[in-house]
Amino acid sequence: MDEAKLKELRARYTDRQAFDADDPVLVAAARQVKSSDGKRALPYSGIATLLDLPQAPSAAGLDIALIGVPMDLGVSNRSGARFGPRAVRNIERIGPYHPTFRGVPKSAVRAADIGDVPFRSRYSLEQSLEDIEHFYADLKAQGVRPLSVGGDHSITYPILKALGKDGPVGLVHIDAHCDTMGAYDGSKFHHGGPFRLAVLDGVLDPQRTIQIGIRGSSNMFWEFSHASGMTVIYMEDFMRMGLEAVAALARKVVGDEPIYISVDVDGFDPAYAPGTGTPEAGGLEAREGLALLRSLAGLRVIGADVVEVAPQYDPTTNTSLLAAQLLFEEFALMAFGPAQGAVRAPR
Ligand code: MN
Ligand code: MN
Repeated sequence: MDEAKLKELRARYTDRQAFDADDPVLVAAARQVKSSDGKRALPYSGIATLLDLPQAPSAAGLDIALIGVPMDLGVSNRSGARFGPRAVRNIERIGPYHPTFRGVPKSAVRAADIGDVPFRSRYSLEQSLEDIEHFYADLKAQGVRPLSVGGDHSITYPILKALGKDGPVGLVHIDAHCDTMGAYDGSKFHHGGPFRLAVLDGVLDPQRTIQIGIRGSSNMFWEFSHASGMTVIYMEDFMRMGLEAVAALARKVVGDEPIYISVDVDGFDPAYAPGTGTPEAGGLEAREGLALLRSLAGLRVIGADVVEVAPQYDPTTNTSLLAAQLLFEEFALMAFGPAQGAVRAPR
């Protein structure tokens, strides 16, 4: 480095504080992130909430409500996703600044963690799904968009039932499994079948549905995806097409009408997300999934979820870390998307 440059840097930065910057975007972000005394709250202190958002007793007055859905009565294998919301709340240091949107999503909307869906019985899957549907129908009636942490994937069916009541929604679905199975062991409700039920109920448009990351050996259960006209991107397709082509196809499939985003953490390789009930080797990398979500900027996202975090199978807590980051990406898409009115283009 030449002397003149070093002299200039010393003059400019020697006495600066951590938040001081010249870039107006960073100056604005710093103002939104720090408290009035110029500090930031300790990331490891206080009551844990989803994305460290404020707590609220209800969804009244909110644009976006973050919700825990601690229910895993629909699993076919390892249970434990009922502990997902707590584990994701415990993750610190996600956001609040979003690097590619170059903004602070929580400053663009009124958003809060409104707690967990209340359940009448810890023993009944059918009743729990009814409880979820009623809870989300109430949010929809208030014009509040839900952002949820499961729970197993059976929770997405009643959520779609509530959100798609006035017309079927589109779907971007990341998962190792299509989750379009029929009835199993005498129950049509389980985490392997929410999207078949949603299509048959007329609340999900299969032509505007794309499923990404599909693998494993349960293909005999997933004929419905193809028969109904869903676009299914198996992991082999993903590797052959590449991230950009898959992202472009996803945008083309779902279009500009309202969509829901559902992310099952088992869509990711167990190297990144071992804490889940039905892991499948050979999945998405964390960075691929995050990039995929970021590529959906500008779409009309009316709700989203991250499901199937079963933290007890992952002593590293990396699964929950990934889930919290995925939740933040979904939050940014919703906060800076067209449904909010103030669209922000990513960098
Ligand atoms: Mn799933
Ligand atoms: Mn799955």
